[in-house]
Amino acid sequence: MAPSHAALDSAARAHRIDGRAIARSLDEETAAAVRAIVARDGAPPGLAVVLVGEDPASEVYVGRKIEACLRVGILSFEHRLPAQTTQDALLTLIARLNADPTIHGILVQVPLPPHIDEGMVLSAIDPAKDVDGFHPVNVGRLSTGTGGLVPCTPLGVMMLLDSVIDDMKGMDAVVIGKSNIVGKPIAMLLLEREATVTVTHIETRGLPDIVRKADIVVAAAGAPRLVKGFWVKEGAVIIDVGITRMPGEGGKARLVGDVAFDEVQHARAVTPVPGGVGPMTIACLLANTVKAAQMRNAQKK
Ligand code: NAD
Repeated sequence: MAPSHAALDSAARAHRIDGRAIARSLDEETAAAVRAIVARDGAPPGLAVVLVGEDPASEVYVGRKIEACLRVGILSFEHRLPAQTTQDALLTLIARLNADPTIHGILVQVPLPPHIDEGMVLSAIDPAKDVDGFHPVNVGRLSTGTGGLVPCTPLGVMMLLDSVIDDMKGMDAVVIGKSNIVGKPIAMLLLEREATVTVTHIETRGLPDIVRKADIVVAAAGAPRLVKGFWVKEGAVIIDVGITRMPGEGGKARLVGDVAFDEVQHARAVTPVPGGVGPMTIACLLANTVKAAQMRNAQKK
């Protein structure tokens, strides 16, 4: 039987996984790796960030990524193109960046304007420079467990899990959401660790019962407070990827996750929103840029 809310309220508080602190320590490692690359090659890794159009959310994300590059010493090259840019012009820019030896990572901010075929553009990026890990070659490598560049948010989710779980072998994990950029790659990474993985989605029947069996819950649905306290097994580890902007006090937006954080204090550990997965995504983008530079150097030897 599910524990009552009163019982849940009186339980010990779950460990709050501090994504900001874990992202900071990853940034320190990345900055050290950048210094080592500069010492060896005389120049830092370069990241090209391509933004097409004036989507305000995309402008904010791109601005944060560029600021983050500065923090760890990665050189960023911003390419801002007007909304009416043709697909051919964008593909020409990508071909130029693919051939440019000073560029180690290429990031095309999505969504792209509707007249541009996103799949075609992302597939045009050299897989060795695909720091978002969206290229079909990198997707294939992830699903066969053969290396490559892994999408940033899923990579961050695994680091958060690693901060509280020594060995995921045999654990029951449920992933809520099956998108190509979040849910599916997370499921692949959990499988690589030999967890037993159930992937669920909007059409899944009996989601609360599935979640109740899980030792690891990764919620990536974009459905605010979907995961209730009584869905969660005592001692589970919960990673909340979801971000929904809701109206907050004084007309300011507030970010709400997919998990009813206050109801899951009987879990072993849980990430807050904000301050959980969010900070890891950019830190992993920087780490992927360094990884791309290191992979290129290893090839040269
Ligand atoms: P998406 O819309 O592409 O996919 C959502 C998935 O969740 C779908 O598979 C859908 O079937 C499933 N889903 C939706 N509602 C559900 C419900 N009620 N029950 C069960 N399954 C449900 O979204 P996405 O790009 O995968 O992102 C998911 C969430 O993660 C969003 O809130 C997004 O903002 C957030 N996100 C956060 C970060 C970060 O850095 N923290 C990065 C990427 C995405």
